[in-house]
Amino acid sequence: MKQYQHDCEKCLFVWSYRNYDVYLCDDTVILRYGNEGAQYKSLLLPWLMATSDADFRVVARHLIRMRHISIVNNHKEK
Ligand SMILES: [Zn+2]
Repeated sequence: MKQYQHDCEKCLFVWSYRNYDVYLCDDTVILRYGNEGAQYKSLLLPWLMATSDADFRVVARHLIRMRHISIVNNHKEK
């Protein structure tokens, strides 16, 4: 469930974690924490994994797991 407004049409909403709405925009991870245009962080996944912020690392692990699942599913469909 989204907590904030976000108006990028390319972004794919992933899920909400704590006070963040998590989006994927191509390879960039968007972490929105407010309705104001500038209230978000955007990071590449490897940077998210390398951060010292525990919440960010949880988000990174979730995204990696999700990507593995979608790769496996794509293989099954072919
Ligand atoms: Zn976007």
